[in-house]
Amino acid sequence: MTNLRQLAKQAISRYYVASGATTLKEKILNRQRNQAFRIFAYHRITKVISAPNPFSQSMNVSPTDFQQQIDFLTQRFSILSLKEIAGRIEQQKPISPKTVAITFDDGYLDIFTNAFPILRERNLPAMIFLATDYISTNRMFWWDELEARIEGIDFSDVRKWASHYFSVKVSHSKNHFYHNLVNRLSTMAANQFEHFWEHFREEFPDILLDIYSHLSWKHIRLMKRNNIHFGSHTKSHAILTRTPKNNWAEELAGSKQILETNLRTKVDWLAYPRGSYHDVGKEAVIAAKKAGYKWGVMNESGVNHPRSDRFRLRRIPVYGHESFDTFLCRCYGLL
Ligand SMILES: [Zn+2]
Repeated sequence: MTNLRQLAKQAISRYYVASGATTLKEKILNRQRNQAFRIFAYHRITKVISAPNPFSQSMNVSPTDFQQQIDFLTQRFSILSLKEIAGRIEQQKPISPKTVAITFDDGYLDIFTNAFPILRERNLPAMIFLATDYISTNRMFWWDELEARIEGIDFSDVRKWASHYFSVKVSHSKNHFYHNLVNRLSTMAANQFEHFWEHFREEFPDILLDIYSHLSWKHIRLMKRNNIHFGSHTKSHAILTRTPKNNWAEELAGSKQILETNLRTKVDWLAYPRGSYHDVGKEAVIAAKKAGYKWGVMNESGVNHPRSDRFRLRRIPVYGHESFDTFLCRCYGLL
């Protein structure tokens, strides 16, 4: 997202809050009788790490901001676990339109170190969606590896290599370049993706940074005893639309089984990696059902109702670079 768009969004949010639009929405919500629930999607709770690239900035919410957001939600909304919401839907019990749930994708260690203490102190539930291949390992997600390798070397070398590899002129700004590359890699066919990494790794040295650490089974079990639930985010963080279909069952059913064996509990929830409308098509839903899931969440913003498609529930994103006003506007559906 460009800076200009960010600034515009901030200005609009400030206007909505100052003009009383959020307060009005709050009043409307208090009087509403329809049933609804909102699911918030977080990734990492950490201070912005060394690389000032836009992708990290948006995925990393600072612990201070997280605490402020959670305190607001505790005061104005009712935070329930997804399990509780699912139970209410199944038993046709009422769901107040002020119901919210907290989720985290990917399973970074900082959820344990920075988010869990805030949640535990307030006895709040949440669900963490785990990519099982990464649990208790020091492997990096590809976007983190990209960042770590780009950060560790002279940018002009990366530019030169990338211009040659993609046969296109590459942006002078490191941030812009990184952002474009992430977008490009997210939509690449599997074989092209493998080819890119084979060459990229060969060209640039391996730099391991522990800021990209993942949760271990020990952390996961400890949180499980404290109101935190777990869902699947596939085994390898597979974006289904880019993954060969014959690997889908392994990614979906395989990760479910690993979680169930290690946690000794049923795992009914799936968060589709990337999770855009495009990624959660008919075939993805059929595969999720076949793998034994009962519920699926996307990364498309919006409010859910008891009759919403259980395999295409929406989530409201929370971005680290956005202001508290913007968060408020997102809570009330103004953005
Ligand atoms: Zn993810």
